Order: sequence, then structure tokens, then C-alpha cells
Amino acid sequence: MATEPSNVFNTPAEFFQLFAHNWRHIQKRLTATWSARQKAEVADDYDRLINELASAIDAAVATGSGDLANEWKKAQVFVRSLLAELRMWIAIKDNYADLAWRCFCDAEDYARMSARWLPDFMPAQEQPQRLRDVERVCFPSQPFFLSTATIVAEDDMFCTVCNQIYAECEHIVGNLYSGRIASRRITHIKSISEISFVDEPADKRCRVLRGPDGHDPLTGEPAQQGNALEQNDEI
Ligand SMILES: [Zn+2]
Repeated sequence: MATEPSNVFNTPAEFFQLFAHNWRHIQKRLTATWSARQKAEVADDYDRLINELASAIDAAVATGSGDLANEWKKAQVFVRSLLAELRMWIAIKDNYADLAWRCFCDAEDYARMSARWLPDFMPAQEQPQRLRDVERVCFPSQPFFLSTATIVAEDDMFCTVCNQIYAECEHIVGNLYSGRIASRRITHIKSISEISFVDEPADKRCRVLRGPDGHDPLTGEPAQQGNALEQNDEI
């Protein structure tokens, strides 16, 4: 049974109106106690919606409507944030701490993009703060993350939009171009200049898996049994 809006909008504006209208209702699912069965149903709905939005992006690109493709992409990234958070709650309930953390990191990354792209869409503006609250309440504080500094030659970094050398093209990482998010593709790392412990990492997935006491900082259990890394699902 579909429980979330799907395939009932014709334009990105309709999509955003519908989600804004249903936002309080949607947030009920993004909680610890909401039933696992309904969470799984909603996750299926969001999966389907993400695929429908991918088709809408392709259709817009095919007709030369880059701006329309960008709007659909913003909608898709917002739904990806909701789906990642939903999977986080499911993983917490199933006792998969490491998977829950990685889902949280995905949700936060997508939420930050959505908030930057959608200044007038209230749910996208609320989501980063909601996730900060979730992090504070649901996960123990992790004082250290790993950060790696690498040395890469300019001509080993390519733009994912135009495939040119990134330093020589006009695209900017994190911006949208005809429904695609620009990023850098690195083909060769010359060397790793530094690995350091930081409290504000570029990527929170780079967490310490085994603390000085031999325990996983997320669970307090001995590190080898404490996380469920192998029981991963792709987002
Ligand atoms: Zn480019």
C-alpha cells in the first residue's frame, strides 16, 4: 500500500507543495517508535519515487530543459535524504549501529545539498537541524574522525559533467547542471601527505572503528563484534 505521495504531481512545484503540505505527517515516520512494517513500506515508496524522478530528469534533459531537470534533481536529492534517514531508523531498531551511522551521514549530506538548493522549501530548510538533533540524541559523541590529505596533480582531476580537466572547465563542484551534480573524479593520487584526527571531518563516515580500549565508540562493544559493517545495504 502506497503511503507517500508518488506519481501524483506533474511539475516540481506540485511536488514541493505536496511534501510541504504533508511534512508533519512525513516526519512521524522518521522516528524510533513508528512501526517497522510501515517504515519498510514508506522506504519502498521512496525508492519508487526516486526512480520516477530519475525518469523525469531524463525526460527533461531529452527535451533540452536543463532548468527543469535541475528542479527534479533537487526533489530527488530531498527524497534521498528522507530515505537515508528512514533507513537509519530501521538500522537502529535492528541494532546495526555502523549501518545506522552511515545512513545518517548520507541523510545529512543530502539534506545539506537540499537546504542549499531549496531556500524557499521549508522541509529542506528544517531537515539539517532535525538531523543535528538526531545525531546528538541517537549517537554517542565521537571525539575523533580521520581526515586524509592527499596530493593530486591538476591534470589527474576531471569534471564529472564535461569530463574535462576540472581546473580548466567552468563547472563548480556541488552545483547542478541539467540534472547532474558536478563533482571531481580523481584518476591518480600522487601521495598521501597526512592522516590526522579531527573533530570536524569532511566525511563523518571516516570514524574510529576501534577506540583505545578496543571497543567500538558507537556501541561500547568489542570492536570486532560491535559493528555490523558486513551487513550493509546500499543506499
Ligand atoms: Zn566541467
